[in-house]
Amino acid sequence: MKEKTFWVVAVVAALASAVSATTIHDEKIVCGNCGTENTVTVVGSSNQMDLPDLDWRPAEMMRSTLKFEVIECSKCHYCAFDLQEKPRSEAAKQIIASPMPGNTLADRFVRAAEIQAAEAASAGDDFEKKNAYFRAGHLFLRAAWCCDDANAPERAVAYRRAAAKNFEAVIALAVKGKEEIKPELLIMLCDIYRRAGDFENAKRMADEVLKYKSLPQRMAERQLELCREKKTDCHTLGEVRNVEPSTSIVIGKGEK
Ligand SMILES: [Zn+2]
Repeated sequence: MKEKTFWVVAVVAALASAVSATTIHDEKIVCGNCGTENTVTVVGSSNQMDLPDLDWRPAEMMRSTLKFEVIECSKCHYCAFDLQEKPRSEAAKQIIASPMPGNTLADRFVRAAEIQAAEAASAGDDFEKKNAYFRAGHLFLRAAWCCDDANAPERAVAYRRAAAKNFEAVIALAVKGKEEIKPELLIMLCDIYRRAGDFENAKRMADEVLKYKSLPQRMAERQLELCREKKTDCHTLGEVRNVEPSTSIVIGKGEK
């Protein structure tokens, strides 16, 4: 079955679940590249006790599950959201075969992002292309979050730019296919540009989102204020008007 991209914005009452902890367990996963069985830690459940950042980065406790999102094969060093997925293109296989640049969490996200970007460039149809660019964008964004946490601002900016490039490719393919573009994607891209110091593109995205009558529209108004003030630091949904303190938003990355 073909993989289909989804973009879910589920509004849930975070405070109701605030008392529950993150649960994790080990699973055996076979690497789609080399066939090695890896024991990996998987998140069973988690929750958000506060509002997410403006790029949808979740608040704690979900924020701390970032390290479980990308998996690296212990043998071939293939990195992916889904390690079982077989790499398809020669370009992706060449990246997997090349030495890992480092062993930080950001390095694993970047490696996984580069593999997906290579898959996107080689994909035969636009549907597969769009999904791979979408995953590459999310993986680069997560690499940037790791760099925010590690206080490596220059690398964070570089990865935000890479994320933006991949999300722009998603948008271009959606436009080509006459598909609806969700404001949640545009407002996320707005924050990615702003935090990379690219206020011009951040404003372009915010102006686009202002056409929608929804929560992202109010986020866009806040983004335009931040752009006027030339702010590149982290801001949260809590600063957006008319957001209930008990509201949290969960964004999916894709499904089979
Ligand atoms: Zn492997």
